[in-house]
Amino acid sequence: MTIATTPTLATQVRADFPILNQDINGQSLIYFDNAATSQKPLSVINALEDYYQQVNSNVHRGAHSLSTKATEKFEGARDKVAQFINATSRNEIVFTRNATEAVNLVAYSWAINHLKPGDEILTSVMEHHSNLVPWQMVAQKTGAIIKHVGLTAEQTLDLEQYKSLLSEKTKLVALVHVSNTLGCINPVAEITKLAHEKGAKVLIDACQSVPHLPVDVQAINCDWLVASGHKMCAPTGIGFLYGKEDLLEAMPPFLGGGEMIGEVSLDSFTYAELPHKFEAGTPAIGEAIALGAAVDYLSNIGMAKIHAYEEELTAYLFQQLEPFENLNLYGPKPTSDGKGRAALATFNVENLHANDLAPLLDYEGVAIRSGHHCTQPLHTVLGVAGSARASLYFYNTREEIDRFVIALKSTIEFFQEMLE
Ligand SMILES: *Cc1c(COP(=O)(O)O)cnc(C)c1O
Repeated sequence: MTIATTPTLATQVRADFPILNQDINGQSLIYFDNAATSQKPLSVINALEDYYQQVNSNVHRGAHSLSTKATEKFEGARDKVAQFINATSRNEIVFTRNATEAVNLVAYSWAINHLKPGDEILTSVMEHHSNLVPWQMVAQKTGAIIKHVGLTAEQTLDLEQYKSLLSEKTKLVALVHVSNTLGCINPVAEITKLAHEKGAKVLIDACQSVPHLPVDVQAINCDWLVASGHKMCAPTGIGFLYGKEDLLEAMPPFLGGGEMIGEVSLDSFTYAELPHKFEAGTPAIGEAIALGAAVDYLSNIGMAKIHAYEEELTAYLFQQLEPFENLNLYGPKPTSDGKGRAALATFNVENLHANDLAPLLDYEGVAIRSGHHCTQPLHTVLGVAGSARASLYFYNTREEIDRFVIALKSTIEFFQEMLE
């Protein structure tokens, strides 16, 4: 047996997350639903509170000191996000409500205006509904055709099929970086390079990568990338679209109104410079500032360190689940040191409905997700109606995995006894 001599990352950061220190149904909470939303550290909660206690004012009006202060903090948050994902310019970061809105922005501003009947949109069977439904709406409006890349035997993205589906007809590739259900990590830089060789644009859904591993938009070289603040320690109501500056420059505004204009007369308008062109109306100012605080928090720890620690947790989680009989795990297996997939386990227990598992685990204080995780088409491909998912973040521990595994074992036994 090895005895840990250095404190884990989780023990160092745990006190930053007050919500984790509570009992649920008489048991200390184990929060394993991080792929749905992450918890928030005190520095983020305080940033939001400070904003409302000290700074609250509308941005970009500049008529008084508070407004100037709010604008500086709001635009400062944009700088932080730009640096965090290594954008070349702050103009490449557009604040949105969430990743879903960011995908829709590209769908309505770019795709609807660019795609013609017979053009092809290439996506995959593992996409979140947010990176699927907007393209279905675009296809209905434009006559474009959607093609879907399937899975390999290991339940990863089938890169060979991707290559075979790519053609001069492909105008857009819209793919997830890290699957929220399979946990696989798609080779987005290679995917982008191949798409660009055919002249297609590339949008990456980075909702499950930006919070967990270093993401560099220049290294990926994608045209757009979307993420949500609430999965990366920030509040809900704030997310962002990254887009290459020349491309965003060429795209028309998506929503019209205040903030996005230059000059307005009764029957015409000119629009503002980037990125304000895409930010109609008063934005989520406090939430954006808190997203900046979340980026600071994650950067102070270091994304490489977060990723490495999550790999340790992944290895341990899969080791502990291996002895289970009748447990079907989805997605690729991690290497023995936890590499090659995200720190989440999606599974089904034979003869048991996933929706029956989650409430019984909740009874033990363990919060996991059950259902289709907004990937219904993927579940159809997997041949199941739903699944259970335990998804981890850097504040989770091995001890929590141990307790989750014990609770899972007793839950399964409980159902087996009922069935007998
Ligand atoms: C959560 C998630 C989304 C959607 O995020 P919203 O915050 O609901 O807009 C999209 N894709 C993936 C992979 C996700 O995990």
